Amino acid sequence: MFQIKNSEFIRSAASQKDYIDVTLPVIAVAGKSNVGKSSFINMITGSGKLARVSKEAGRTRLINLFSINNGEFILADLPGWGYSAAGKDTTAAFSGNIEEFFKKAPTLKHVIMLVDIRHEPQDSDKKMLAFMHYYQIPFTVAAVKSDKLSGAKLGPQIDAVARGLMIGRDNIIPVSNLTKAGKDLILKRIGEVLQE
Ligand code: GDP
Repeated sequence: MFQIKNSEFIRSAASQKDYIDVTLPVIAVAGKSNVGKSSFINMITGSGKLARVSKEAGRTRLINLFSINNGEFILADLPGWGYSAAGKDTTAAFSGNIEEFFKKAPTLKHVIMLVDIRHEPQDSDKKMLAFMHYYQIPFTVAAVKSDKLSGAKLGPQIDAVARGLMIGRDNIIPVSNLTKAGKDLILKRIGEVLQE
């Protein structure tokens, strides 16, 4: 069983010059602001310090790189997109940065994209998925906040997310950052990605 034993901040990347030299495999985590990306990173790494770094003022628009298991792979925390605290739509500015990363990060192996399991996928989620298709980057959708749904509603809601994003159901893993449901499946997927 794949496990994350330790994690360490490397740097915040503003553009390709900050990640073009990366040779280790990279797995990126993406999602709208407030979807639960920090909680997810805390949950899978078992460490509060990584996501805290990513939330520091000045770093929220940057791509934050972490070394996992002393260089087994790099976790890239992509900037959250959507509405800022000021209520301003910052989607365009953020997605440019992310698209450049999809296009130019030399060893990007996989993206874990977070969506809220309770909601219909938004246009910005679909746009991000379109970038991943275009640049042929394998991905997994983590449908977070599964604890907010009863067991009976979970299956139909996974179907709704699959339909909304036009992807297969087996590409969606329901996750609760609160109860850690789905953590084992996410770690298993990361282990598989690193084996490829
Ligand atoms: P970020 O902006 O994407 O980094 O989101 P955060 O990790 O800060 O989470 C946003 C809010 O959603 C916080 O109030 C979290 O406590 C809550 N949250 C995140 N993940 C979950 C989850 O899996 N279940 C529940 N019930 N709440 C969650």
